[in-house]
Amino acid sequence: MPLMNEFESNKGRLTLHNFEELGLSKPVLAALQEAGYTEPTTIQRRTIGLILNGLNVLASAETGSGKTAAFALPIVECLQEPGDKPRALVLAPTRELALQVSSQFKIFGKNLGLKVVTLYGGTGMDQQLRALKGKIDIVVATPGRLNDYLERKAVDLSQVEMLVLDEADRLLDLGFMPQVRRIVSKVNKERQTLMFSATIDDRIGRLANEFSEDPVIVKINTERVESTTIDQQFVHVTEFNKDALLLKLLGDFGAEAVLVFTRTKRKAGWVSDRLQDAKVNSEEIHGDLSQSQREKALRKFRAGEIAVLVATDVAARGLDIPSISHVVNYDLPDTPEDYVHRIGRTGRAGKCGIAVSFISEEQRHLVRDIEKVMGRTLESTGTAGAPPPRKIIPARRFRRGRR
Ligand code: AMP
Repeated sequence: MPLMNEFESNKGRLTLHNFEELGLSKPVLAALQEAGYTEPTTIQRRTIGLILNGLNVLASAETGSGKTAAFALPIVECLQEPGDKPRALVLAPTRELALQVSSQFKIFGKNLGLKVVTLYGGTGMDQQLRALKGKIDIVVATPGRLNDYLERKAVDLSQVEMLVLDEADRLLDLGFMPQVRRIVSKVNKERQTLMFSATIDDRIGRLANEFSEDPVIVKINTERVESTTIDQQFVHVTEFNKDALLLKLLGDFGAEAVLVFTRTKRKAGWVSDRLQDAKVNSEEIHGDLSQSQREKALRKFRAGEIAVLVATDVAARGLDIPSISHVVNYDLPDTPEDYVHRIGRTGRAGKCGIAVSFISEEQRHLVRDIEKVMGRTLESTGTAGAPPPRKIIPARRFRRGRR
């Protein structure tokens, strides 16, 4: 079945400027006001009406664009009253994302009394099993753990009428599709299906056709949004001067919230140790830590108790901490898509952010790939609306600080 024509948002929809015009009811509007949301973001303007009209949607939207509210708001609006069994199901690739999504559902569904249950692995089952015994309206889950509960017949998805695959591209990349298929087979065929993905390519198009009928495609050019709010800087380094350079930069940034990315878990541990040696208030977050250790580090970072969080890609996927002022790519990621995701952790919700990437000789070729995905040359001087020109800080300036 061919995908439906791309939805043309500028036929009226972009003229809707507030949440009331999008068709949200008083209790939801009140919750939004309390959360400080005054105007819908582009993705919200373009999808909320479609979802409220019962259409299947495939939307391209990055974390940071307001995509969670783009599906969570119309879902709580459609559910309205508490029921018994889950009527909405969101599948997310990581536990951090699942927790963030459910926290937004809790905010928006607050005045309606909707019950949200979050299911994810890496933690004991008892508490989640207890939650599954009560009344539930919305389930937000990572596929592995939800499958475990389905096998134990601890959760009933037969009443689910709205299904969301959040970060569908990541669900695919992380090999979750067999589990997603098993889960979807338990959900009513008459459901409404919503898919959100950073990119829409042939693979995602095939998935959309597999899971939904005639989805309306909504494409948002997120790169443009990002590049206007994120100042991207590149620094040529050698492997040996990265630590000294990082310390120097952290000193320049002051006590702001800095997210540092490394390519491997081991490197994250190493960098975090070096920072702690230098009395920098930092923690690490990666897949080798227990769920509670990861949550503790995140909580401290969110609360401003630590200034620096050193993370790997998977651990930081979907992290939504609006206070992050700087992202440092201590190592460049292997794929340009991960670069876009990483720098998108800063410059969120209209704020400005700075992303500094260390480029060693061995990783220089990756810059070309990043430029291809960003659709522009990172070295060029920006024109109106484009980011400032890149700044190259010569590595020799930092030599003195080398250990
Ligand atoms: P998301 O893309 O869903 O990860 O959202 C990114 C951030 O933007 C989150 O901190 C949201 O709370 C915030 N946000 C989403 N929509 C709005 C809005 N309409 N107004 C203000 N903040 C928003």
